[in-house]
Amino acid sequence: MVETVARRDIRKLTLEELKGFFVAHGDKAFRAQQVYEWLWKKSAKDFDQMTNLSLATRELLKNHFIINHIQVDSMQRSADGTIKNAVKLHDGLIVESVLIPTEKRITACVSSQVGCSLACRFCATARLKRMRNLNPDEIYDQVVAIKQQSELFFGRPLTNIVFMGMGEPLLNYSNVLTAIEKITSPKGLNMASKRLTVSTVGIAKMIVKMADEEVKFNLAVSLHSALNQVRSSIMPINDTNSLEELGEALKYWYKKTRKKVTYEYVVWKDINDTEEHAQALLKFCKIVPCKVNLIEYNPIDDGEFQQASDEALAMYMNLLEMNGITTRIRKSRGKDIDAACGQLANKS
Ligand code: SAH
Repeated sequence: MVETVARRDIRKLTLEELKGFFVAHGDKAFRAQQVYEWLWKKSAKDFDQMTNLSLATRELLKNHFIINHIQVDSMQRSADGTIKNAVKLHDGLIVESVLIPTEKRITACVSSQVGCSLACRFCATARLKRMRNLNPDEIYDQVVAIKQQSELFFGRPLTNIVFMGMGEPLLNYSNVLTAIEKITSPKGLNMASKRLTVSTVGIAKMIVKMADEEVKFNLAVSLHSALNQVRSSIMPINDTNSLEELGEALKYWYKKTRKKVTYEYVVWKDINDTEEHAQALLKFCKIVPCKVNLIEYNPIDDGEFQQASDEALAMYMNLLEMNGITTRIRKSRGKDIDAACGQLANKS
């Protein structure tokens, strides 16, 4: 009779736990280092790839563990070079991740949750129910897949990573941090923390927690309005996380990390396109050193939200720049394949 044991996903184990496993099975703790390197640095998908282990060790591992890994289910390329991946997880759920090439950089935009619970009214992902958090390895593997595509299709290394795909990274905090730890570790992808940006709707208490941990990556906040009433009407999270609380959390963040915050901001026609709104943003920008990205709106529906006029954008730009706030207008990328900000919705 064949004994069936529930095999665990080996990448859920820390290096210490893996060492414990080997010692408990009469092997050397150092074996764990070798396996760990295969699992993370070399992204092995199968124990048989681990050729510096004996057959007996590989059998032992196979009897106790599985290696869950993602699969790029489909890949779409935009006319502007952007690549969108539909990524299938081990349980069949799908998330999306995007490679964004520019002259100087290649950026991976990765998802942190399947769907999203936040209900921002202008975002396509908000229409997908939040199904579950991604595991650290599922976040890590998205980066690995894009790194490989970067080398294959562009002959250039991946330079930046943004947590701006599906989901709210700060509602999957510990898995996101574990993934970042692996992405930045020499035992993993060895990428510099300053090349990573975590983007959030602005959950104040989680920003404080991150500040306490003195993380080294960058923080972006999807602001979109600096007036509570308006922000609450488009981003329900603002009801329980007011701009005042957010401002306090950001002060603490800056005090601890000395890192500028980036605000992401879309200017919409008839929603936030007058001088009063721009003045409110300017006032908010004085709380901590910051930069502003004015993001182009990517329509997701029948026109409830519309991009503001060029004049309105210029008004924002002038006011902020005149007051010393670095402001950039970010054209959207990958719009033709629904890969742009706010468009990730597993459409194809
Ligand atoms: N939940 C995190 C991570 C998602 S990032 C966050 O909100 O920051 C996705 C970015 O795209 C956010 O800045 C979001 O506000 C923005 N966005 C959402 N829908 C958009 C749309 N239709 N057009 C342009 N930007 C959009």
